[in-house]
Amino acid sequence: MAKPPSSRSLSARVAEVDASQHSVRVVPRSIRPPEDGEIRLRLIACGLCGTDLFKLDNGVAPEGAVLGHELVGEVESVGPGEIHFDVGDRVVVPHHVACGVCALCLRGSRTLCPVFKENLFDPGGFSEALVVGPRAVHRAMRHVPDGLSDAAATFLEPAACVLRGVDKADLTTDRPVSVVLGAGSMGLLHLLVLRAVAPEGLVIVVDPIADRQRIAETLGAQVAVAPEAAASAVHDVSRGLGADAVFDTVGGAALLRHALQMTRPGGVVVLFAHAADGETADFELNPLFKNERRVVATYSGTLEEQGRIAELLFRGTLDPSPLVSHTLPLSRMAEAVEMARRREALKIMVVPG
Ligand SMILES: [Zn+2]
Ligand SMILES: [Zn+2]
Repeated sequence: MAKPPSSRSLSARVAEVDASQHSVRVVPRSIRPPEDGEIRLRLIACGLCGTDLFKLDNGVAPEGAVLGHELVGEVESVGPGEIHFDVGDRVVVPHHVACGVCALCLRGSRTLCPVFKENLFDPGGFSEALVVGPRAVHRAMRHVPDGLSDAAATFLEPAACVLRGVDKADLTTDRPVSVVLGAGSMGLLHLLVLRAVAPEGLVIVVDPIADRQRIAETLGAQVAVAPEAAASAVHDVSRGLGADAVFDTVGGAALLRHALQMTRPGGVVVLFAHAADGETADFELNPLFKNERRVVATYSGTLEEQGRIAELLFRGTLDPSPLVSHTLPLSRMAEAVEMARRREALKIMVVPG
């Protein structure tokens, strides 16, 4: 008699890290059946994220690892135990989930929880099938409603990261002026999240690439300019006051200095991006101190932010699907990495095949 599907391994193609080439190679792999509290998914789509590229570029990703965490999948089989999902359900789920009960979680620093960085995907999102661990299944997995596209749903995780930073900026004025440094997919996602949560606000986007400036304006930026024109754009839009918040999606000390100069007294710079390894910041302290400026860091996102983003996505208030510039099959994953590296693509969505 044939065994039920959940007790068999599944053969799938995965894009695994080829560390010596700073790239990935597509190989077959056997994906184990789900155990207690686990779910095995078939890949529907997974976004290629700047963090994935960072890990490849900087040799942080170990040989043979499978990256990918902006995932939409279909439940293929469920393990034993109490699980509130059925075979065939379309779901989103993050790979990092806090425990919810440790000292850091209880103080609101859930993305710094000691178990948060544990990868709950076996092996990862760039795989035709994967097993999702119990903590992610029980605490973080969500059904995707019928009306929501796969493309939009893949942004649940990254948009939650953006929302966490936007919360930290504490934009309490009526018509906040925000600056977003960088119009890559994360920069433009900042623009869209800001437009969704503070529709009265004005957003200035700064990026050297003219095409991206145009996209930013199409997506609702008040103005999008090259870095040389940023100071005067901030001056004009804020009527000489300076920006309430600057969101740095590019990273690095030089940009931080510029970002601080763009803020109004009492304004904030939100650090959203990696700097180079070992890089230190160097800016004048008194203008920060005497003007009550703030520099805050934000890392990843939590279930709480994911819940609020899910609402915005499900209601259609937030629709990041225009950011998907390319949809490529998993077999062309190495090409996807190259395109993202050369900044020829905004967001690449990887699908099976
Ligand atoms: Zn990501
Ligand atoms: Zn914790």
